[in-house]
Amino acid sequence: MSRTSDAVVIGAGVMGCSIAYQLARRGLKVTVVEKGPAVACGSTGKSSAIIRQHYSNPETITMAYQGLQFFGHWQDFTGLKENRCGFKKTGCLMLFPSKDQTVESCLDLMKKIGVRVLALPLEVLKKEFPSFNFHRTRIDPDKLTHYAEVERLKLDELESASFEEESGYADPQGTTLDLMSAAQEHKAELLLNHQVIEIGQVNNQVKYIKTHRGETISTPVVVNAAGVWATEVNKLARVYLPLTIVPTRHQIVFRNWPTGTPSGRPETLHPVPVCGDLVNEIYFRPEGSGQILVGSLAAEDDRDYIENPDNYTEFADENFYRRKLIFLHNRIPMLESHPPGERISTAGLYDVTLLDWHPILDKTEVEGFYVAVGLSGHGFKLAPVMGIMMAKLITGITCPDQDTGVDISFFRANRPPIRANLAQGVIC
Ligand SMILES: Cc1cc2nc3c(=O)[nH]c(=O)nc-3n(C[C@H](O)[C@H](O)[C@H](O)COP(=O)(O)OP(=O)(O)OC[C@H]3O[C@@H](n4cnc5c(N)ncnc54)[C@H](O)[C@@H]3O)c2cc1C
Repeated sequence: MSRTSDAVVIGAGVMGCSIAYQLARRGLKVTVVEKGPAVACGSTGKSSAIIRQHYSNPETITMAYQGLQFFGHWQDFTGLKENRCGFKKTGCLMLFPSKDQTVESCLDLMKKIGVRVLALPLEVLKKEFPSFNFHRTRIDPDKLTHYAEVERLKLDELESASFEEESGYADPQGTTLDLMSAAQEHKAELLLNHQVIEIGQVNNQVKYIKTHRGETISTPVVVNAAGVWATEVNKLARVYLPLTIVPTRHQIVFRNWPTGTPSGRPETLHPVPVCGDLVNEIYFRPEGSGQILVGSLAAEDDRDYIENPDNYTEFADENFYRRKLIFLHNRIPMLESHPPGERISTAGLYDVTLLDWHPILDKTEVEGFYVAVGLSGHGFKLAPVMGIMMAKLITGITCPDQDTGVDISFFRANRPPIRANLAQGVIC
C-alpha cells in the first residue's frame, strides 16, 4: 500500500511522539513509523523519567524548566481529557560532595531562569529529611558494607545541597502514549511493527520511506527519532554526522520502600523526593508507593558501550545491585533493618553523544532529513521542549501558546563541545 504524508517521524519513543504532536498541531499530516509493537518500546519504556532542572548551561536549564511547566499542566499541554503522564511533584534534592563555585553558579543561573531552587543548610536538611544521614565522604562498599561501621568513622557532614521544589518524575509509557494520542487528535497516524528500511531521495531531497512490510510513504520530510538505532537510520539516508552516538547500558535496581516500621523500633521512614546524591554517585526516587528506584551517576558505569542495541543484558549485574544498595543504605540508614524484598532490576540504553553528552537537534545535508538523536540520558525531561524546537526548525511556525526561546543551533551537529561545569555525563 502507498500513502502520502507531510512528514514521517521514525520512532515512537518520547522524542518521536513529541515531535509528531508539535508537527501535527502546526497542521502537517504526520505519520509516525515504529518498528516495535507499541509506543515507548525502546529506551523510553525503561526510563527513570526524572524531571530535574540542575544543568550547567542556560539552554538546558531553560528546556528542563519549561518542560516541567508542561508536565505540571499536562492536560492543557496535550489538549487531552485523560492524563496518563502521572507526573509526581516530589521535589529534587541534590547532594554535592563539596561547596564550590561551580555549584553556586549553577544555582544562581537556575534562579535567574525561574527555577525554584534553594541551597539548604545542614540544619534544614536534617529537619526536612530525618531519614537521611548527610555524610559527605564516599565509602567504599567493598570495605564498609554496613552503616554501623560507617558511623564509627565520624565522617564529615555535607556543606552543599540544593532542593528544587517543583521537580519530580513521571510515567514514561503514559507520557508517550499521551503525546501520540495528542498527535492523533490532530490527525497524525501511527504505524506499528513497521521498520523503515529505505529512505528514498531524488537530487538530495527526501522523497519517500519504505518499511520492511513493503509500505511506502511519499513525503518531503523525514525525522530520525530512532534513539539508539539513530546511526543505522542515518545510514539509510546516507547521512554521516560529525558526532558519534554510542548505545550505552544504564542499570537500575529496585528495593522495597517500607511502609511500616520493623517490630520494636520507633523510627518511621518519611517519603523520599527524587535525590541526586553526587557523593555516592547514585540517584533514587520513589517507585509507586512500595519501592525505591536506584540508578548510577558514576562515570565508570557510563562506559558500558553496547555494539548491538537489539542484544544486551536487560537486568543489572550482581555487583552493581549490591554496591548501589549499600550506597543507598548508607544515605538512608534505617533501610538496613528492612528487608529489600525480591531482587528486581532492569537495564536500558542511553544514546550517548560521545563528544559532550548533549542532544543533536538539526537538519542535515540531505534536504528534508532531520535528526533528533543522541539524547544522552536527558531525553525524557527535555522531550516536550525538544519537540517544539524541532517542529519550529522543520516548519518555521511558532505556536505562541507553547514556545521556547532556546536557540536550536546550540545543539547543532557541527558544534564545539558543550561544556558542563559540574560533572560530564548524565548530570551535565
Ligand atoms: C534506564 C534509563 C533511565 C533513564 N532515566 C532518565 C531520566 O530519569 N530522565 C530523563 O530525562 N531521561 C532519562 N533517560 C533517557 C531518556 O529516557 C531517553 O533519552 C529517551 O527516552 C529516548 O527517547 P527516544 O524517543 O529518542 O528513543 P526510544 O525511546 O528508544 O525510541 C526510538 C524508537 O525508534 C524505533 N526505531 C528504531 N529504528 C527504527 C526503524 N528503522 N524503523 C522504525 N522504528 C525504529 C525503536 O523501536 C524505538 O521505539 C533514561 C534512559 C534509560 C535507558
